[in-house]
Formats: sequence, structure tokens, C-alpha cells
Amino acid sequence: MRKKNFFAGPSVMPEEVLEILSKEIKDYQGEGLSMIEASHRGGMFEAMYDECLALFRELLGIPDNYDVYFLGGGATLQFTMIPMNFLLPGKVADYAKTGTWSNKATNDAEKLGSVNVFFDGKESNYTTLPDVESIKPSENSAYVYICANETIGGIEWKAFPDTKDVPLIADMSSDIFSRPVDVSKFGMIYGGVQKNLGPAGATFIIMRKDMLERRNGNLTAYMDYALHAKDKGLYNTPPVFSIWAVKLVLEWIKSNGGVQGMDERADKKSSLIYSVIDSSDFYRSPVDKRYRSRMNIVFRLPNEELEKKFVSESQKEGMLGLKGHRSVGGLRASLYNALPYEDVVALRDFMLEFEKKNG
Ligand SMILES: *Cc1c(COP(=O)(O)O)cnc(C)c1O
Repeated sequence: MRKKNFFAGPSVMPEEVLEILSKEIKDYQGEGLSMIEASHRGGMFEAMYDECLALFRELLGIPDNYDVYFLGGGATLQFTMIPMNFLLPGKVADYAKTGTWSNKATNDAEKLGSVNVFFDGKESNYTTLPDVESIKPSENSAYVYICANETIGGIEWKAFPDTKDVPLIADMSSDIFSRPVDVSKFGMIYGGVQKNLGPAGATFIIMRKDMLERRNGNLTAYMDYALHAKDKGLYNTPPVFSIWAVKLVLEWIKSNGGVQGMDERADKKSSLIYSVIDSSDFYRSPVDKRYRSRMNIVFRLPNEELEKKFVSESQKEGMLGLKGHRSVGGLRASLYNALPYEDVVALRDFMLEFEKKNG
């Protein structure tokens, strides 16, 4: 029996995808070798990769004036590459500090150039977001940076600021493909694939082509987006296993209603849990209701002892990953695309039962 997997990342994969991977790991579609044994130049890898990129574009509706490719180094490497490329001398980058991940991105950017923090959620302990209408880029802004879904704090932007001529850059590691996105509003969208798209290894990059004209042209090879764009991410060896699995996950998304289907799933699943939280004095969500994440539901119990008990008893029921991140404590259920609806029903039932016994 498979566990009910609520881990925040790496995280649950569609069972159908795991089955294809295990079936084809030794012999990819009768080619007589594994995808992970093949050269990344030409041949079966590149044919698969091209299909993966085409599917990625199709499902998200990415306009032609954007490059799409995968890199290594995780989302974290982008915290450095973005300011290295775009935060030129005389410019300032506008950052929103809304939780762990955007705070880390801000810290890295501050080491590389001039940063304006236009919102800092510190006072509210990162439980709320700014009103998008109020956001105006600095006069000489290089870009506006946000994290679309703070995986640890469980807080998600529901609308995005209109930054006019200033590029908007978003980390969508943990909510990509969970809802439709108007990509044309962004200069760049990126994220690690290990939350909603596949096994750890690859980082997806979606970048408007004209962003390259704004970049620092004097960087070392790997740091320079132009080299990656020119070669669809194949400047050096890409994370081939991760990309192969992402392609299979994209096919799974397509056959399950595409991004629209994932959006509906996310509503259905997250409302099961939020309705338990909202109808009880036992469970409590610290996050501003307007911005509660559908991917990562953070919640608390009356005391830490009960939270510990909740985690250990849920484990006995085959539910993994419900402990909150060590930096914020409490509990967290990650309900990524691939998590089956029935597993969320099981969590809901467990929560009701736990309250009955301990409330
Ligand atoms: C997990 C995560 C990261 C870090 O990703 P790595 O691939 O481990 O570098 C960054 N941003 C967000 C929103 C995340 O969820």
C-alpha cells in the first residue's frame, strides 16, 4: 500500500508515472537502452525533451516570445542568477519579503546589488500579503520580485501586481501547474520541479526573450541566461532523469484536464481541509484567509504536545509529512497536483476523529 504523501518537497508523484518509469527504466520504448544511459545530444533524449518543452508550453499557454528550458541548481541557484543577470549598477530591484523563500532570494540579491524591499511581512509573522493595487516599482527598477506561493508559510498570491514596463519575476516552485497563469504579465517565471512536477533535479525557466537584452553580458558561462536560451538549456548536461519524469507528469496533467483540471482539483482538495479548520475551535489557520495556499495548508492545534501527537498518530495511519517546517512549527499538509483526492478525504476524516478524541 502506498503511503498518503503530504510531504512539501520532494513530494508525491502520480502513481501512473512511477509505473511507466519503472517499466521503462531499463529499456525506453524498445530502444534497447535506458533514457538515463543515452547521450543528451540528439537521439532519444532530445526527441523526448522537445516533446516535454512543447507540452509545457501548450499546457501553460506560453506565448512564442518566451524561452522555456530546464537548468540544474534548484530554485536556489536562481536567487543568485536573477540579480547577477538583471540587477545592473545604477538599478534597484524591488523585492517582496513574504516568507522563507522570498526572504532567501532577497538576501542573495542584497549581496549583489541595490535592493528595495517594498513589502516585509515580518510584523505579521509572514501571514499576509500586500494589496497588489498598491504596488509601484521603484523609479529605476530592474525588476519586481515575488514568490507566488510560500511553501513553508502556506501563503499564496491570488492576483499579481501590474508592474507596467518593469519585468515581474516570480518563483512558482510550489504552485506551477496548479492554476492558469497569464504568462504574458511576467518577465520570468521559474521554479524547482520537485513540488508539483516531478523528482528533484530540474529547474524550469520561462523567460521573455527581450529580458536577455537587459542582462549583464559579462558573466561566466553557466550564469548567463543567454547561453541557456540559445541551446534550450542544453549548454551543459541537463538533469535527464528529472526531465524525463517531468514529461510524463505533464502527460498525466494533460490527461487529467490540464491546468484547468488541476485548478479544480486544488479547490476541491484544499476546501476539504480548510472547512475542517474553519468549522472548529480546535484547528486554527494562522494565514490571512484571503491568501491561504491551496498547495500547502499550514495549521495549528491548541498546543505543541497535541501537534506532536497528531504527527505520530497520523504516521500510524500511513500519512507522511504533516509536521510543519522546523522554522515555523505547527502542522502542514501539502496537497500537490498528484496527491489523490481520496488521500485528502482520509486526512479530513483523521482530523475530525482526532478532534473528537482530543478536543
Ligand atoms: C522548495 C522551494 C525553493 C527551493 O528549491 P530548491 O530546488 O531546493 O533550491 C524555492 N522556492 C520555493 C517557493 C520552494 O518551494
